Amino acid sequence: MAKSKAQVHHLEAAPINGFKHLTFKDKLKEIGAFPLRPSGIDVFQINMGKMCNQVCKHCHVDAGPDRKEIMTREVMEFCLKAIKDSGAKVVDLTGGAPEMNPNFRWLVQEIAALGRDIIVRCNLTIIVANPKYYDLPEFFKKHRCEVVSSLPYFTAHKTDAQRGTGVFDKSIQALKMLNAVGYGMPESGLKLNLVYNPSGAFLPADQQSLQIQFKKKLKELYDIDFNELFTLTNLPVSRFLDYLINSGNYESYMEKLITSFNPSAARNVMCKNTLSVSWEGYLYDCDFNQMLDLPVASDSVHVRDFNLGKLLNREIITKKHCFGCTAGAGSSCGGSTT
Ligand code: SF4
Ligand code: SF4
Repeated sequence: MAKSKAQVHHLEAAPINGFKHLTFKDKLKEIGAFPLRPSGIDVFQINMGKMCNQVCKHCHVDAGPDRKEIMTREVMEFCLKAIKDSGAKVVDLTGGAPEMNPNFRWLVQEIAALGRDIIVRCNLTIIVANPKYYDLPEFFKKHRCEVVSSLPYFTAHKTDAQRGTGVFDKSIQALKMLNAVGYGMPESGLKLNLVYNPSGAFLPADQQSLQIQFKKKLKELYDIDFNELFTLTNLPVSRFLDYLINSGNYESYMEKLITSFNPSAARNVMCKNTLSVSWEGYLYDCDFNQMLDLPVASDSVHVRDFNLGKLLNREIITKKHCFGCTAGAGSSCGGSTT
């Protein structure tokens, strides 16, 4: 299932109980939200490459230590120009582990010089993976980066099952290092947000209740503070799609996503105000479309040829994986959307 075309084919062709011919477009039409068009580019998301120190079970990027695809400095320079042209207020750096890109720190400094807010999607363990990363908390602080990190649960057992043996202990160590420089502490203004995604073929529980539970447990057990918890729905893409198919859960999971379609979430999908750039510089409506190799429906398809007018006129490409963004309370890189 590594090939994106095979994934798209499966998503569109595989039968789903009672919803054989239903497309995501049909649901958008039902609520008068078709075609889906961008409202602007508020968030410019850069995927800096597939290289990562972890190999998580549900990774939609299929990232890992053996992946060598990373963004070059030349593509980053095109991105900086596009950030200025787009007027985006926030630049969201993701990967893989973005910090492993040798030009990561240079890019952060350049974006900070443009006065944009920066989000770094940090997997936590990278901070303790090698002495050259130990100063990342100070570096993030210097550039007032918001740190967003996955922590599937507040116990080692559940976290390690999803993200690999030993990941929980290293994550706790990294969270303490971030707290030590002020991240997640009241009044510091240094935001440390955690991300929860379910460990199997089910929707996340209520974001607010989980946040209360995580805050209580992480404080009690490890004296750790953080700002917000974002709940994410696992989208049927890449490793999670493989898992759904291999475990025989594909049909029931898709049925669950479809029957939980929420019109308010559909009106707030993140692709309406986000643009995603691949490590090679190609433009996508979101990180998931990027992994499925569904580029923007526009002449402005590479960041080198960034054209705001053309991009704002495009229709957003949707397939059945989009039901993951509109189920229940909705899901986006910033958590639930309703
Ligand atoms: S840390 Fe993130 S990018 Fe790396 S394997 Fe895990 S989910 Fe994928
Ligand atoms: S998967 Fe991407 S394109 Fe589809 S609704 Fe979600 S953000 Fe939009």
